[in-house]
Amino acid sequence: AVLDQIKKSEEKVNAYVTVDEAGALKRAEEVQKKIDAGELKGPLAGVPAAIKDNMCTEGLLTTCSSKILGNFVPTYTSEAVKNLEAAGAVIIGKANMDEFAMGSTTETSAYGETKNPWNTEHVPGGSSGGSCAAVAAEECIFALGSDTGGSIRQPSSFCGVTGIKPTYGTVSRYGLIAYGSSLDQIGPVAKDVTDCATILEVISSHDTKDSTSVKREDLDFTSALLDDVKGMKIGIPRDYLGEGLDPEVKDAVLKAAKVLEEKGAVVEEFDLSLAEYAIPAYYVIASAEASSNLARFDGIKYGYRTEEYEGLHNMYKKTRSEGFGPEVKRRIMLGSFVLSSGYYDAYYLKALRTKALIKQAFDRAFETYDVILGPAAPTTAPKLGESLADPIKMYLGDIYTISVNLAGLPGISVPCGTDKKGLPIGLQLIGDCFQEKKIIRAAYSFE
Ligand code: GLN
Repeated sequence: AVLDQIKKSEEKVNAYVTVDEAGALKRAEEVQKKIDAGELKGPLAGVPAAIKDNMCTEGLLTTCSSKILGNFVPTYTSEAVKNLEAAGAVIIGKANMDEFAMGSTTETSAYGETKNPWNTEHVPGGSSGGSCAAVAAEECIFALGSDTGGSIRQPSSFCGVTGIKPTYGTVSRYGLIAYGSSLDQIGPVAKDVTDCATILEVISSHDTKDSTSVKREDLDFTSALLDDVKGMKIGIPRDYLGEGLDPEVKDAVLKAAKVLEEKGAVVEEFDLSLAEYAIPAYYVIASAEASSNLARFDGIKYGYRTEEYEGLHNMYKKTRSEGFGPEVKRRIMLGSFVLSSGYYDAYYLKALRTKALIKQAFDRAFETYDVILGPAAPTTAPKLGESLADPIKMYLGDIYTISVNLAGLPGISVPCGTDKKGLPIGLQLIGDCFQEKKIIRAAYSFE
């Protein structure tokens, strides 16, 4: 059914870079045999999934939506995808994304933009726009995305689906092609909170192949699927309701807060402060890490190599000039600049200090509140082309998601209505480190 739906809607939506029809059917048959033999029982057995194209899949093209990895077929599978396969999920294909996960619209892909299934004149958000559009268009049952500064939560909100960014260290990053390693986390995108909790339970694991992986004893996320928020303390940062927030989004978010209040939660506004520093700090840190991580794409170790060159340095230069798109080049230049001697202290170190202060502000807030509530994004999905013309405006759209990554916290985006144009609005719930269950419980109220 999913493959039929892909045939029907993929031409309009372009959610996938690669659809592996033959491989998926073969894997589905193998899974069916195991189910029949009673060897596979879990909730994901036989369920078709899309994987963001920055997670390595053995034998299956993995491009990061970049020309530079246009012919890259990994020899191993990322840990999160391995966990899915062990649970019997069937990988249908690789989802489109912003090139190397840099962007908020899925328009920086070298393989064409993804369109929002609700209205194909609008973007699906990004960078996990392919994953979220595939779920919204029923071109898969669920998907994996990655979130460095909102890339699961923001496109989930634009596409009317549910997505979780777990606490840093919960899902192994082994086999996830790194963007900003200290911020990147893999997470689920699905139709509802129940599905997301079920998937998160499967993909989370302690993995010695990822040095930042955390050993947790509390990965039974589905145990938090309870319709019970009585007494829960929920804080809304005043800074999240101010300038730049679309009034329709604000209305929908405050209505959702009312629902929680009616169900017995205590909801109040508070000052989180420092929110305005999150975007500059994030773009300095993420670009610095990206400039280092992307140094490996040099035409020798992976993927694309320029055809004509004179000597090694000319080969590097031409390969990278031809292989990377404009947004990726912008990040590499910015990242190299803030790390260069003479500027390191003024930009990179200052951004790290800001990151520490943002974490402290959240720590203080979680002394009082169980969950922080706000919008996932200041607006609904913009029209195609609007953000490409103005990257700074696009960066500013990350205001509500980015500090969650800087502080390593878990966040969920759940649908909470539509605007006048019929485009979905997303509500974001943020928890303290390792408190996924609290945000899952609060989000489950809307199910
Ligand atoms: N929009 C942000 C960026 O471009 C976030 C991307 C992400 O989370 N991968 O960096």
